[in-house]
Formats: sequence, C-alpha cells, structure tokens
Amino acid sequence: MSRLSVLPLILSSLACLPASVLAADGHDHHGNHPAHVHGVGKLDVALEGNTLTLHLDTPLINVVGFEHAATTTRDKDTVEAAAKMLRDVSRIFVTDPAAQCKPAEVQLESAALPPALLGEKAVSNPEAAPNDGHADLDGDFTLVCASPGALNTVDASGLFSAFPGFQRIDVQLATPKKQAAAQLVPGSALIPIN
Ligand SMILES: [Zn+2]
Repeated sequence: MSRLSVLPLILSSLACLPASVLAADGHDHHGNHPAHVHGVGKLDVALEGNTLTLHLDTPLINVVGFEHAATTTRDKDTVEAAAKMLRDVSRIFVTDPAAQCKPAEVQLESAALPPALLGEKAVSNPEAAPNDGHADLDGDFTLVCASPGALNTVDASGLFSAFPGFQRIDVQLATPKKQAAAQLVPGSALIPIN
C-alpha cells in the first residue's frame, strides 16, 4: 500500500514578507525628496479635530501629461482644466455623507507653472522656475467635517478617474487614533480612516 504523504508546508512563513516590505517602504521619513516616479503619487491624509487635510505630491505628468512649462494655448488649457478638476474636491475625495465634510480650501503649486494658471490668487512664487525636465505638483486640500467621528473612509476613486496618469498612490494616514500606510490603485481607492 503506497502512501502519499505531504510534508508540512513551510510556505506560510513566507506569506508575510511582501506586507512587511511594503510597511517599511511606507514609513520612509528621511527628509530627502522621494524618487520622482511617473505614475506614482503620494498622499498624506490627516484628521485633526474637525479638519481633514490631504496633501498630494505628484509628478506633474500624472495630472497634465507633461512637465515642461505651459507655453502653448493647448498646454495652458490642459493645466486650467486639470486645476479645475482638482479644485472640485467633493468629486476627487468622496467622504461619508454622515461626516458632513465640506471643502474649505485648495492650494495648488508647481515650480513649472505660474500660480495663476493653477487658479491661485495669492502669488508666492510669481515666476515659473526652470527645471531639469521634471516637475511636481503639490496640492493641499482642506475639508471641515461637522461629524468627524462618522468619517470611516475617504474614496479617492475620483482622482484616478479624473487623471488616468495615476497608476498608484501611496497614502500615509494620521488620525488621533492611528497612523497607517496604504496603497491605492485604480479600482481600489478607499482610504480607511477609522
Ligand atoms: Zn518627471
């Protein structure tokens, strides 16, 4: 009588490896400029009291399709359209209705673009600076939530649908209760807050 015996699997010890690698990567706070990788954005999400802030740091190409100065009418139209979409915060970042979050402020900045083209009124950096061929866009989004305790998730699907240039967004979350890292991809863009 033959007996097929299966050795105990030791694979289970390997299963946790990718998660720990991601966690280490997600806690990179060296103060250096992170690598500029086309398709990848960074999003810092913080909930403090009634205020929800989201800071987006992305290669400019992810949102407008180029990183040079906007010289042609077509370039300028593209930038203005992208800025308008980003400023439509309640579509880009969808919050639980019960939390009653309302967009309060948006600031957009890119070294390659004049602030006015991004819809900024206050001019902190009047001239677009020459760059090495690459440029980033920084977006600060502030929402005020009447019932922050009811904020369970922020859905960033709208960011992916408005800007197909995003392949991945690395999220760092900080609330009074926890700090966490998450990765968003098209089709899976829910940020768990609680
Ligand atoms: Zn670039």
